[in-house]
Amino acid sequence: MQTGILPPAGRNVVVVGTQWGDEGKGKVVDWMTDHAQGVVRFQGGHNAGHTLVIAGRKTALQLIPSGIMREGVKCYIGNGVVVDPKHLLSEIERLEALGLEVRSRLFISESCPLILPFHVEIDRAREAQRESCGSGKIGTTGKGIGPAYEDKVARRALRVQDLKHPTRLEAKLRTLLELHNAELTGVLGAQPLELQPMLDDALRAAEQLRPMMADVGYRLFQAHGVGDNLLFEGAQGTLLDIDHGTYPYVTSSNCVAGNAAAGSGLGPGMLHYVLGITKAYTTRVGSGPFPTELDIETPGTIGHHLSTVGQERGTVTGRARRCGWLDAAALKRSIIINGVSGLCITKLDVLDGLQEIKICTGYELDGRVVDVLPLDADEIEQCKPIYETMPGWSDTTAGLTNWEQLPAPARRYLERVQALIGAPIDMVSTGPDRVHTILLRHPFRA
Ligand code: GDP
Repeated sequence: MQTGILPPAGRNVVVVGTQWGDEGKGKVVDWMTDHAQGVVRFQGGHNAGHTLVIAGRKTALQLIPSGIMREGVKCYIGNGVVVDPKHLLSEIERLEALGLEVRSRLFISESCPLILPFHVEIDRAREAQRESCGSGKIGTTGKGIGPAYEDKVARRALRVQDLKHPTRLEAKLRTLLELHNAELTGVLGAQPLELQPMLDDALRAAEQLRPMMADVGYRLFQAHGVGDNLLFEGAQGTLLDIDHGTYPYVTSSNCVAGNAAAGSGLGPGMLHYVLGITKAYTTRVGSGPFPTELDIETPGTIGHHLSTVGQERGTVTGRARRCGWLDAAALKRSIIINGVSGLCITKLDVLDGLQEIKICTGYELDGRVVDVLPLDADEIEQCKPIYETMPGWSDTTAGLTNWEQLPAPARRYLERVQALIGAPIDMVSTGPDRVHTILLRHPFRA
């Protein structure tokens, strides 16, 4: 373990999930915020969900960076995030009700595209249509994130900055509503939405959000210049990335570390370390290929153990997560795409009590052995995992804070994972609380 004084110049760390999301990023980001003066979201929307447990109290956050739980830490919502103004305000109010000061330290990029009510309607109606025509749901959270990104790429989105200009806002909203009502009524068989209530809501939100609107990229540059440590908090996970994930069963943004720069406006040369968060096993919410998936329904099975002991239910949706063994071949893909500097293995304690633990080291595909996750979702469906079996441990790892305290088989498991995927394990999480953490190398000092 390294000790010593933090360097005087700002160090910037990017935290990303290396699997299909829900790796426990929220807890780790919260833990690291001790050493950061700013926390930045750079992609996704309020489809992300972090559960933090601080002094035994559970708090769920969707859009606002978890740094908000630490007094004095600045929180930035970068341009890569899509913002539902109504939701954002309700999240601010929820945090204020806990006694937290939010508005003076939250900065929202003026360039964030807005999520508006028609995006939510379209999202839900399309999923329902996909299901009814048998083409299969994508498994979206139905919060309008994907349709809002579509408008961004089509260069017709309303952005946070439009909220400052009521006339411009109304004109753009009217045009966009016409377009989306045509899809809702003509293609999706849904009801059209009305302009006035939507406009009234947007204007009300505008008034409240205006003091928090900012040129986030420039602010980050200035913060970096005065030596602030910045923490970039990824949402979802690498295998859900729109380009690199298991397309089309992916989210609608880039969740890889590279987007920490594009989605915030701070150049990539100012990012120093990428921390990959990896669950000690694998989970996935929603549809899409999952080579190491296990049965979670049958009591007494490994899958059931992971699901129940790991409490694998979505923070936002409440949906049961699919569970399976750790997939080193999928992780290898993530390590490469993100340029991971070090890993934090989370939820090691969930494996406590298992007699044997398996690691997927590669797959059989069309008579060949492949050692990295293929790019084509149909091919991944055909992949048969090749497993290596390791002894489990009967002692508990829950709450341990020291590497030497870990049972020997747990250490051997982690060392094997490290060797297979080619990235160092710098941290291990052994419980939901921020203190349940083993530190081997501090990302802000590495
Ligand atoms: P995120 O979106 O990546 O932050 O992940 P979630 O918050 O959706 O899921 C992580 C869940 O696991 C939360 O309920 C955390 O409190 C919990 N958690 C995080 N780390 C650990 C750990 O090491 N052990 C256990 N048992 N739970 C953990």
